[in-house]
Amino acid sequence: MPIATEIDRRTVLVADDEPYIGRIIQMKLEDGPYRVELVHDGRAALERLRTDESFDLVLLDIMMPHASGLDVLAELRTLPHRSGTPVIMLTAKGQEADREMAAEYGATDFLTKPFSPKKLLARIDELFSR
Ligand SMILES: [Mg+2]
Repeated sequence: MPIATEIDRRTVLVADDEPYIGRIIQMKLEDGPYRVELVHDGRAALERLRTDESFDLVLLDIMMPHASGLDVLAELRTLPHRSGTPVIMLTAKGQEADREMAAEYGATDFLTKPFSPKKLLARIDELFSR
């Protein structure tokens, strides 16, 4: 695998309230050509997304404190500089209604927990190769 320089790396904002899951995602993506910024609740995610900082992709858990992944997605899509940013929702089994709502709000893709980090990386690589 070619080694990406820091400049080549795409930046991914990952929001998940389970620190262990966030860390696993971060380690896997940073093995690939990505730089990860990790937050642990919806409010922190929104604070990061309202800035001018460039994020190439956002991963949102649905069940999070302060603001859910759906709340974050809905607000993100109202921000002009984020309207086209790809968003992958991390959903749990049995959250079909949430998935439908997320699709309406403009989610790009979904991954059902528990997922393999390898599959997540493959999905993201595919997203950027389109
Ligand atoms: Mg959660």
